[in-house]
Order: sequence, then C-alpha cells, then structure tokens
Amino acid sequence: MSVSYRDALRAALLYGLVSVIWLQLTDHLLSRYFDEPTQLAHWQLINGYVWMFVSAALIFVARARLLSFLGGSASLKRQRQDRERLRQAEVVFDCTREGVLVTDRKGVIVHVNRALVEITGYTVEEVLGRRPNMFKSGHHGPEFYQAVFKSLKDSGDWQGEIWNRRKSGEIYPQWQTVRAINDSKGQLSHYVAVFTDISAIKQSQSELARLVHHDPLTDLPNRLLFTDRTEQALVTAQRHTSGCALLMIDLDHFKIINDSLGHNVGDLLLKGVGGRLQGVFGKGFTVARLGGDEFAVLIENCSTARQAEALAQQVLEVMKAAFDIEKHQLFISASVGISVFPSDALNAEQLLRNADSALFKAKSAGREGYALYTEELTAHALNRIEVASDLRRALEQHELRVYYQPVHDLNTSRLIGVEALVRWQHPLRGLVPPGEFIPIAERTGLIAEIDAWVLEQACWQMCQWQSAGVDLSFVAVNISSRLFARPELYTLVSTVLADTGLDPALLELEVTESAVMDDSQGALEQMYRLRALGLRLAIDDFGTGFSSLLRLKRLPVQKLKIDQGFVAGLPEDNDDVAIVRAVIALSQSMGLQVHAEGIEQVEQAQFLLNLNCDLGQGYWFGRPMPASELDWQRAPAISR
Ligand code: C2E
Ligand code: MG
Ligand code: MG
Repeated sequence: MSVSYRDALRAALLYGLVSVIWLQLTDHLLSRYFDEPTQLAHWQLINGYVWMFVSAALIFVARARLLSFLGGSASLKRQRQDRERLRQAEVVFDCTREGVLVTDRKGVIVHVNRALVEITGYTVEEVLGRRPNMFKSGHHGPEFYQAVFKSLKDSGDWQGEIWNRRKSGEIYPQWQTVRAINDSKGQLSHYVAVFTDISAIKQSQSELARLVHHDPLTDLPNRLLFTDRTEQALVTAQRHTSGCALLMIDLDHFKIINDSLGHNVGDLLLKGVGGRLQGVFGKGFTVARLGGDEFAVLIENCSTARQAEALAQQVLEVMKAAFDIEKHQLFISASVGISVFPSDALNAEQLLRNADSALFKAKSAGREGYALYTEELTAHALNRIEVASDLRRALEQHELRVYYQPVHDLNTSRLIGVEALVRWQHPLRGLVPPGEFIPIAERTGLIAEIDAWVLEQACWQMCQWQSAGVDLSFVAVNISSRLFARPELYTLVSTVLADTGLDPALLELEVTESAVMDDSQGALEQMYRLRALGLRLAIDDFGTGFSSLLRLKRLPVQKLKIDQGFVAGLPEDNDDVAIVRAVIALSQSMGLQVHAEGIEQVEQAQFLLNLNCDLGQGYWFGRPMPASELDWQRAPAISR
C-alpha cells in the first residue's frame, strides 16, 4: 500500500484545523486570564512557541511513522517476492525429471523431490531422516565411495555414473551430480544430489552393440563377431599349442526356395537352419551367419581334420529332415568347407579364406558334401586371380577369338547351323579353351563384356555368310547364366541386332538349364522379351541341372540341347540310352526341336537318328574352328 496525495491533503487539513482550534482556544483562554495587553502579548508569544514545538513534535512523529510505514511495506514486498521465488523453485524442484536429494551436513536426508520417489520407488516419508546409503546396490566397492567423498571435500562437487538399488531390489545405473552447499558464513550446511536414471540409455546402447555384432534374422553372431572370436581362439590355441577348425557352410540351391516361395519363407528357412546348427553345436562353439545362406562354425580345441570331418558330417545329417515352414515341407542340403589351424592357416583371415576355398571345392564336387582345404586350392585361387587380371588385358588387346562348330541336320546330314564358341589366343599359353576362363570371368563380372563381344562378332559373321550366299539356318551364341536374368541383356541383344541388321530369326541364344530354372520369374520375363525380338531360344546342357517339367512347359524355348555327357555313353550305356530316349520323347511331346552335342562316333549319330533326334553336333561332324575354315559342303552320311 502506498501513501496517496489524498492522505497527505487530509493530514494537512487536519493539521490546519488543529492549529486553528489550538490558536483560537489558547487565545480565548489567555484573553480571559490576562487583561493587561503586554502581559497578554507576552503569553501569546509563549503560546506561539509552544505551538511551534507541538507542531514540530507532530511533524517529527508523522515523519517517523511515515518512514516506518514505508520501510515496513518494502520488507513486506521482499518477503512476498521471496515467497513467490520459493514457490516457483518448489514447482521446478517437483516437476523436474531428475531426482533431487538434499541432506544436511551430517548426511541426513532432509528433502527429496517427486522424481526421486518415482525413480527409487520409495515414498518421501520412507526416505526423510535416513542416509543416502539406503540406495546402495553393492555394485561399487568402498574405494568408489571414498573417491566421491574426497572429490566433494577437495572441489565441492562430484559427477559420475553410479549404480543404485530401487525399493523393488532392482539395480539400475544413474548419472549423478553431488554438490556441497555452504551457508552465508562459508560453513558447510547441505549436500545436494541431482541424478538421472540412465537405464534406458544403457539398454539401447547394449541393443546397438548387439545389432553391430549379431545377425538380426537368426540372432547368431555375424561376420564381424565371428572373425573377432576366431582371432581370439587362434591366440588361445597358440598359447596352449592346441588347434582350431572352421566349418564354412553354404545351403545348396537356396535361391530356388527364395525365388519360388518368397523371401518370407526363405527367411524362416534360414532361421530354422540357424536353430538346427545351434542344436548340433552346443556351448564352446561359435555358430555364425556370415550373410545370405552362408553359415560358419568355429570349433575350438580341435586339431585334427578327422574331428572336423565328423562334425561336418553331422551338419549334413542334421539338414536331412524336412523343415516345416508355413504349410510347406522343405528339404535343403548343405555343402561344407573345412579348414584347420595351424596346419592349413596361420591367422583368422587365412583360415576363413581357406575354408571358403574348400567350400568352393565341395560345391564343385556336386554339393551336399564336405571338402577339406588343401594347398592346391590356394594355388587354384591364386591362378584364378592371375587369370582374372590377364583376362582384362586380353579384352583390351583383342586376344579373344570366336570359333564356330558345325551343327548338322541328322536326317539330311546337311550343315544347317553353327555354334559360336569363344577362345583366348594367349600370347604365352596359346589357344585357351573357355572352360579355363569363363568360370573366372563369371566370378569377376567380366563375362558380360565377353558375351557381348562374342554376340556382336557372331552376328557380323552371320551377316557376312548371308551376303556370301551361305545357306545357314542359325548361329547359336552362349549366354552366361550370370548375365541371363539381367535387364541389360535385352538392350544388348536388340542393339546388336539393330547395328548388324541380322534377321533375328537367324539368331539362337543358348542358356543353361540352371539359369532358367533358378530364377524362374526373372528368367521367364527375360525369355518372353527376347522372344518378342524374333530370335530363338535353346536350353543348353539339358539334363545336367534341375528341371521342373511344369516350368519347362511355360518357357518360350524352341530347342533342347542334350548334354554331351549323356551322348558319350551311347549306344552301350543303358542309363544314358534311357535318359536320351526320355529327353527326345519329352521334346517331341512339347513340340521342341532336339539337338545332341558331343557326337564323336558314327554309331552315336546313327543311334540318335534312330531315336528321331533332329540335330547333331560333335567332333565327328567337325570341331570348333575359325569361320574361314568351315566346310559348307561337308555332309557325312548317316545310315539308319
Ligand atoms: P557348350 O555350350 O555346351 O559347348 C559345347 C562344348 O562341347 C564346346 O566346348 C565344344 O568344343 C565341345 N564339344 C563339341 N563337340 C564335342 C565332342 O564331340 N566331344 C567333346 N568332348 N566335346 C565337344 P568349349 O568350346 O570348350 O566350350 C565349353 C563351354 O564353354 C561351352 O559349352 C559353353 O558353356 C561355354 N562357352 C563357350 N563359349 C562361350 C561364350 O562365348 N560365352 C559363354 N557364356 N559361354 C561360352
Ligand atoms: Mg552351348
Ligand atoms: Mg552344351
């Protein structure tokens, strides 16, 4: 409340009124007692002085009252402000998500906030009057608390991670700051601790660490963790002069399941495989998923290949039972590569690499088996690397050649087509057959360039033969299975046809059975698009892969080429005879042309003719040769 003008006016009027009354009254009284004018004047003067003193006294009292009033209101205001500040602090104190705990200088808890109650689970009453050691978890030793007190003593504060115990008994981590508070005289009066519950952060940190080291699908260690464990195992093995073995496991034809039944089923199968492997290998083994359909097992304390072989055999066995996945009964086999430390490798990287080479060997040997690493495999691997870099150079230096092998109509013996087969005219090694470099080109990705070049050469050559009047029905070009499902193949073929001007009906593309069966949907679309260009499609090496008759029926192919492996046994080998007979019957019933490769003897040609095989190719008709050496007139007679 402030002193207003009205108050001041009222005080002045009151003072004036009192003055008038005083002066009138005293004047009246004095004039009644004193008749004599000088005496009266004398007393009136005295009265004047008295009034002056009374007035001064009044003013002094009023001023003192005014000052005390003003001073009182200021301290009231201060008190009010302090109260407001305290209230705000209390709200903040209570609303903050950090737990706050205040103790007196002896360490007795005098104040806590709501967050502390929520974090610890204790009520305010259960905490007040007790000491903070009531939250001790036993996680830290006495040295830890000594260090905290020392820091508080030396610098007045401490900050760090501390593990406490909730009322429920659960131990949790908190990030805590403690500060010593001094009073106005500089004496220690309180300690204030502010803390945050960091258990959620810790959990996400460990979750993150788990994700970095584990495969999220199977929850098995991933390549990173597996390599790390292998390195550690080798160090231990070296120290104890013991051994370790590594099994590299790859599922056979997993892609077919993934492509035909979808990735969900594929994922569930991978999970199932992971589970079975964990079942075979208990504790003491590290089973990991290295990626895709590749798993690995680290076997510690195993120094002989025989021990590892027995475990690899168990892996093959455990895969034999069907996997029941979403109403499907799935069967899958595996191939295993084995590498042993220290006999096969001296470090983790070598051990992994060698197990991979052994796996490659197991796959090449027909899958569903295991193979041990041998030094020859490294020699092969080194050779592959050398050939790959050499091949790059060969492409630039135009060292590749296209040879043509004649294809004859078995009924008329007439040469009616050719197959383009690539060769490498190596400056030192001479003429290198494709079997030695095509697989390497496929692994390094160079195959796309090679096939493109061969296709272009073959189309140009066919155009030249056409203009020279050679009567040929087709030129066949091999397309790698790696390239077949890729969209750029369509662009390549259509560009080459447009550039060379070759009639598409004269071009035949040969694809292997696995290329069209493995990735059914992609391959099927590609085949329809290529067919739409007007060319012909043939399935090469038929009988060596996995064919589904249902799928074969849907493929827009015009020809099946019986693999030379089946022709070789004709006409004596009963199995080969049965297979060849079946393939010819199948082709005829599906309206496809049938073509036998690898005919080396006249008996084979005769036998095939008797089975009503349409076309024949082989050394008996003619070897692959440069375009200039082809003999168009050659028509070796075959009698029925
Ligand atoms: P393919 O397509 O099945 O070719 C037939 C292979 O059988 C050729 O081997 C040919 O020389 C061989 N051959 C033909 N007649 C006989 C015979 O009477 N007896 C025997 N023992 N063999 C015979 P080549 O030229 O060594 O080719 C091997 C494979 O390499 C080819 O098998 C084909 O898959 C692949 N290839 C060849 N050229 C290319 C190419 O330009 N691109 C791609 N991607 N692959 C190619
Ligand atoms: Mg071929
Ligand atoms: Mg073939």
